[in-house]
Amino acid sequence: MAQAFQLGLTGGIGSGKSTVANLLAGLGAAVLDADAISRTLTAPHGLAIEPIRHQFGAAFITAEGALNRPHMRDLVFANPQAKQQLEAIIHPLVSAETARLAQAAQTAGHRCLVFDVPLLVESAHWRGKVDQVLVVDCLPETQISRVMARSGLERAAVQAIMATQASRAARLQAADAVIFNDSITLDELACQVSAFFARLQLSLASHF
Ligand code: ADP
Repeated sequence: MAQAFQLGLTGGIGSGKSTVANLLAGLGAAVLDADAISRTLTAPHGLAIEPIRHQFGAAFITAEGALNRPHMRDLVFANPQAKQQLEAIIHPLVSAETARLAQAAQTAGHRCLVFDVPLLVESAHWRGKVDQVLVVDCLPETQISRVMARSGLERAAVQAIMATQASRAARLQAADAVIFNDSITLDELACQVSAFFARLQLSLASHF
């Protein structure tokens, strides 16, 4: 079987990336959500729980058998080595689980897999893995107002999160295609996503 086309979907916080992922899923694309996979691994009795208990101790696991997130957040904030140790556990498991889900989607007949990865531009692993990068873009001010409205966070807190992500310029430089999700309605966004997906499928038709 030919390898399915692998589209990387990314965007800064508040860009509308999750909205675009949902629209693509609604059009029938197989969307693999790296964050959701990662959360499953650290949910009660997820695959990362025993390795985390072994590495960091029982204090980092809740009574329900999940990762104690606030406790771990405090540790990795204070200790970069702990962050590396945690990532050394989580990243290979995310890769393996993503590969398993990708294989299942391909076996089910999907010729295009969409990898929804917030920090794709920041990750050499993901950039090397995908065939094309689709960036959902908007003005930084729009990101701030959307995230403030969605989460109730203060402006400074949103800006602090944005500062940990790739810059808008770096993301656009890594893009093969861009959806500019600013000053448009959700309906207009849906039209743009449909048009993008239709073009992609046409171009893939010549590959299979
Ligand atoms: P991300 O996944 O990039 O953080 P989301 O897709 O969750 O962003 O979008 C952030 C918020 O902005 C959501 O509440 C979403 O409904 C809203 N939103 C996104 N695009 C638009 C748009 N074009 N018009 C109105 N609201 C939008």
